[in-house]
Amino acid sequence: MDTAALTKYRMYINGQWVEATTGGYFHSDNPYTGKPWAMIPLGTAADVDHAVQAASAAFTSGEWPRLTATKRGALLRRLGDLVTEKSKMLAEIEVRDNGKLYAEMSAQTAYMAQWYYYYGGLADKIEGQVIPSDKADTFNYTRHEPLGVIAAIIPWNSPLLLMAWKLAPALAAGNTVVIKPSEYTSASALEFMKLVEQAGFPPGVVNVVTGFGPDVGAPLVEHPLVAKVAFTGSDATGQKIYEAAARGLKRVSMELGGKSPNIVFDDAHLENAVKGVISGIFAATGQTCIAGSRLLVQRGIHDAFVEKLVAFARSARMGDPMSMDTQVGPVTNLPQFEKILKYIDIAKEDGARPVLGGARATRPECGAGWFVEPTIFTGVKNSMRIAQEEVFGPVLSVIPFEDEEDAIAIGNDVVFGLAAGVWTQNMRRAFTMAERLQAGTVWVNTYRAVSYLSPFGGYKRSGIGRESGQEMIKEYLQTKSVWISTATEVPNPFIMR
Ligand code: ADP
Repeated sequence: MDTAALTKYRMYINGQWVEATTGGYFHSDNPYTGKPWAMIPLGTAADVDHAVQAASAAFTSGEWPRLTATKRGALLRRLGDLVTEKSKMLAEIEVRDNGKLYAEMSAQTAYMAQWYYYYGGLADKIEGQVIPSDKADTFNYTRHEPLGVIAAIIPWNSPLLLMAWKLAPALAAGNTVVIKPSEYTSASALEFMKLVEQAGFPPGVVNVVTGFGPDVGAPLVEHPLVAKVAFTGSDATGQKIYEAAARGLKRVSMELGGKSPNIVFDDAHLENAVKGVISGIFAATGQTCIAGSRLLVQRGIHDAFVEKLVAFARSARMGDPMSMDTQVGPVTNLPQFEKILKYIDIAKEDGARPVLGGARATRPECGAGWFVEPTIFTGVKNSMRIAQEEVFGPVLSVIPFEDEEDAIAIGNDVVFGLAAGVWTQNMRRAFTMAERLQAGTVWVNTYRAVSYLSPFGGYKRSGIGRESGQEMIKEYLQTKSVWISTATEVPNPFIMR
């Protein structure tokens, strides 16, 4: 391969731009062309060790631990300003690397600044308590202190946003961070480090090591100086990380897969529901953990609703993700592309009927890119693999239901519990469904809304802990109870006080 034309990146460790210790590189591909565009350092355990040592040193000595919380907050807000300024450039890199639409990514990278502003604002509002004392001459109070070095392991579907969800609160709380981006989308995290540097974070406070899961992710999780692992990714990898973290008794927070039901009742505003279902599964080419990949439709409207849905989805424009007209882009990487096609075959073998798509997209505007036709299966039973396993692509399974009880039973009958959508105009039904669906997020008459203000995370196998919102900063803090005696004399030392 002629690598001269490719953009060559370096890792960011201890405030330095470095090659991997081995000097090796791997390439990152553009999913729209199917061709490599960048060279990324091939990190190993040695690089992980350098980064974690640097982060550990930055946590305990130097400028960072001496900064007031207000100054930490100011650094984060400055970073937020830089993100705002550079959001278009960051979006372009994301599109080149993961093939998501520029229309979506440019909005996402601009919005992402809010996490840095919000947690920048929260940094100096983390207050301990004075505890009423039941002991004479004793003063007891709590402090919320950072944990130490945080390992942030990031997937490829929304790389910078999911990094922000971890980085902003981890830094606001006073931790230091080692980031391991996905091997499919490392460029944006490295580009982002230029902004971290420019904002003025001291060396070692934020580091990025690139490479593959087993070579970089695994040694990072296992490194004895890492206090906590914050992970977003597949449930299979999440389980491995949880097991490895358990050996070191490390804290974890995890946002994993989903098989979310999008439930349409016969009293719903059907035109809105069609748009909500489309946005739930075909936006981002279905490559989101919150994809509404199971459409539950009340039996009486099943055929009419599917007809409307197919007509709408059939008109979706595919092609160059940089074009503002494109609605469905390519799949991010070749293994994922193959996995989606495999699931389509499995669904057909299991007896599901493709009423739209069901194959690789060969439209001229898709060129040699990794495109899958928006696919809708009817005749799906909730027990089929296509209804139980996360596909992470533009593949929708339609399942009829009879009534509320049936919708709840089918909706909850998966191992996941990340999100759920409900379409109804009946207020009582909306509240009942919101209460009874086992999911970390429930949307009623909308889908895919997330915010820096609101906790996000999974029930069941969809995760541990929450991201965003005020509460979750505690995921990056530990509580210390401090006892101070004002007594002039220590009483009997053999009796517990
Ligand atoms: P996918 O298979 O869709 O790429 P993963 O959940 O495997 O999703 O990947 C999410 C992130 O986890 C990536 O950054 C990947 O490199 C990393 N990863 C994969 N395997 C491991 C592992 N054993 N330990 C730590 N990180 C890993």
